[in-house]
Amino acid sequence: MQREAVTVWNRCLQVIRESIPEQSFKTWFEPIVPLRLQGKELTIQVPSQFFYEWLEENYVHNLRKALDYALGPEGELLYSIIVDQGDERQPPMGYAVPPAKTPQTAKPDKIDADIKSPFQMKDLDSLQLDSYLNATYTFDNFVEGDCNRLGRSAGYAVAQRPGVTSFNPLMIYGGVGLGKTHLVQAIGNYIKNNDRDKFVLYVSSEKFTNQFINAIRTDTLRDFSSFYMQVGVLIIDDIQFLAGKEKTQETFFHIFNHLHQSGKQIIMTSDRAPRDLQGLQDRLLSRFKWGLSADLQQPDLETRIAIIQKKLQSEGVYIDYNVIEYLAHSINTNVRELEGVIVSLMAQASLTRRDIDLDLARNVLRNIVVDTDKEVTVDSVQEAVADMFKVTLADLKGKSRKKELVYPRQIAMFLAKEKTELSLKSIGYHFGGRDHSTVIHAIQTISDLTGNDPQTRDVVDRLKAILK
Ligand code: ADP
Ligand code: MG
Repeated sequence: MQREAVTVWNRCLQVIRESIPEQSFKTWFEPIVPLRLQGKELTIQVPSQFFYEWLEENYVHNLRKALDYALGPEGELLYSIIVDQGDERQPPMGYAVPPAKTPQTAKPDKIDADIKSPFQMKDLDSLQLDSYLNATYTFDNFVEGDCNRLGRSAGYAVAQRPGVTSFNPLMIYGGVGLGKTHLVQAIGNYIKNNDRDKFVLYVSSEKFTNQFINAIRTDTLRDFSSFYMQVGVLIIDDIQFLAGKEKTQETFFHIFNHLHQSGKQIIMTSDRAPRDLQGLQDRLLSRFKWGLSADLQQPDLETRIAIIQKKLQSEGVYIDYNVIEYLAHSINTNVRELEGVIVSLMAQASLTRRDIDLDLARNVLRNIVVDTDKEVTVDSVQEAVADMFKVTLADLKGKSRKKELVYPRQIAMFLAKEKTELSLKSIGYHFGGRDHSTVIHAIQTISDLTGNDPQTRDVVDRLKAILK
């Protein structure tokens, strides 16, 4: 650091300090480090590209005035930017970005006034504001499993110390129905319950976009932005929805930056990993990497069982364990689907005034699958195979090792693997509780036979045609 640079910069700061609110000064000018003075060129170091953009966009006028005072009208400002941390395209730290020159023309006063307005607004009374949170989503009823451990613990850390951990922003991503909304709402509810003064806001990206469009139409974009900039914890769901919406992204970018810089927590969800978010601007994506991204995966069998049990418990319904196991083995797509089946099961049971047993579960499942015209089920595979070989379903699932039963059983297992998404363990379960090595052996055997035995190939093809 050069001595003259420090002296000149301190004189600049005197001028700037007088013309902007204390808070803005702290946020935007205290982190700046004066690097060197060459003739009339002062080089300052700023923490990030975004910092530079923000200064340029909002304080160019103040900076010009300060330079005039400290160096005279020929004074020029150069920036040295510390590269965004975690940005893969550039080395993690250093001064890779060449200094950028400030535009010579100062922007009109109006812009300066613009940026001040959010700071000048009165504090919001958070208690009167709706958070749009659904109180039923909590950590207590979010079942933990291997599939969601990282996301859940990061979420919990954020809930306890919003804006303070390095998980800012926190991005939760994963397929549909895997609990993203549940988890981020649980974070919001937790924060709200523990700090009533914090303004937590949940918004879907779709709603955010609509509000934005509306704000443009009614010429209230400033109010829109200022509102979001005052939020203490912003939860924005399904960010992939912003893809291709350039103007909305731009405004979100500024809100994001403002919140992040002032230590506010940002929580987002997306249906895919940040790197796969096409149609989102790079500068936005690079900011997502500042914090933590955690994915939610499909729950494994044990977690599915625990989720079903939790759900039943909250509904005050009792079901035999073997039915629960059956459901957990049969639905492995996502939790929403699992819940859907439980709800129809309860509805069926109360309509027909019967207990929820295995038969009812099978029926409900079959109807749901038929309704949605979905892929083949293990039941339909077994029925087709039993029909073709003229054996009973009980035989197919039974213990007998007779050749005329083993062969169709192996064919059925092979097709179950090919046509459903069930795990080997779950297939074994549906065939009389066989273990997964038996299933592997069956699949291997039939797969070999389809290669060198025309008859087996023919049988498999015919069954596939039937199942279609
Ligand atoms: P997403 O937002 O990822 O599409 P949701 O959060 O809407 O999924 O979850 C779908 C349903 O599944 C919700 O009713 C939610 O409560 C439930 N759910 C998902 N994961 C879990 C879990 N780990 N424990 C309990 N319920 C869960
Ligand atoms: Mg959701």
